[in-house]
Amino acid sequence: MRLPEITYPLALDTVGILLATGHEISVHCGNDGCWHRGKVDLVALGERLGLDHGTLEKDLKPHFYCPKCRATGRPDRNISFILHPPSKGNIMDGAHTLSRRR
Ligand SMILES: [Zn+2]
Repeated sequence: MRLPEITYPLALDTVGILLATGHEISVHCGNDGCWHRGKVDLVALGERLGLDHGTLEKDLKPHFYCPKCRATGRPDRNISFILHPPSKGNIMDGAHTLSRRR
């Protein structure tokens, strides 16, 4: 997998650029009572769709659904995405957003 070169002005708009800059994306179900969420595997996404694939919501949405809602027959495409800057820790545990000053 050959990551793209970083050029400026920097646009964080492709799978390859997010991988090259250490950004991550999480996907969230918006159905009441579900709120299922997960981390997007950008390496797998890049292998499947290509590193030039866009990472705006309109680019990602067709490729994702909520498995919990699908299993129960509820609408499974009420999903949204959050872009996370490079950070310490797992983006899904929320701990990286907390200040640990003592
Ligand atoms: Zn759901």
